[in-house]
Amino acid sequence: MKDFKILIVEDDKSIMNLITTTLKINQYAYINAGNGTEALSLCTSHHPDLILMDLGLPDIDGIEVIRTIRTWSMTPIVVISARGEDEDKIEALDTGADDYLTKPFSVNELLARIRAVQRRLQYPVMNNDEQAVFVNGDLKIDYASSLVTLEEKQLHLTPIEYKLLCLLAKNAGKVLTHSYIIDHIWGNGIESDIVSLRVYMTGLRKKLKTEKEESLIQTHIGIGYQMIRM
Ligand code: CA
Repeated sequence: MKDFKILIVEDDKSIMNLITTTLKINQYAYINAGNGTEALSLCTSHHPDLILMDLGLPDIDGIEVIRTIRTWSMTPIVVISARGEDEDKIEALDTGADDYLTKPFSVNELLARIRAVQRRLQYPVMNNDEQAVFVNGDLKIDYASSLVTLEEKQLHLTPIEYKLLCLLAKNAGKVLTHSYIIDHIWGNGIESDIVSLRVYMTGLRKKLKTEKEESLIQTHIGIGYQMIRM
């Protein structure tokens, strides 16, 4: 794991110790920041592969730190926060966090979330019978370069949005249920939920709107989502 570097942003020394000890035992490389300013500076100088982010920081609110990072970086961010309300979670995910862990957390859960990020970064897994380029109406996905264009304009998707899009594209025309999507994106045994999925899908659908204000992805309330075949 030496080439996988994790930036930990946490002002609570005991939690910082718990995380660094866990990462050390599991042979992850890491750097740490005790406040938002330091986090932003380490993020630009060290290009971490994953950021573990506390929200309650002494200088800048974690949400603001995420917002700033997202203006120039797509590095996966997992929030570890004592704020456990749905609204806090939705705000963090809306701002661009990839996952959310509520304190107190178990180290096994933390490690599972890190492994899930690593799996997501290995996208897309292509079989020989799959096309290298997917085309549906004005949408084009080039799997080799992970480039997505709509009406010839490049779309900037987060890693999860890209993975969701690939899953829907692979099953274009079919309705995929919430649990099917959660299983395929987050993997079995990883706790994720319909609330988070809804946030990601809303973002993805917004980006996939064409000039005619149509989205390629349809919502089936209470069931799931479907990519329409054009
Ligand atoms: Ca804190």
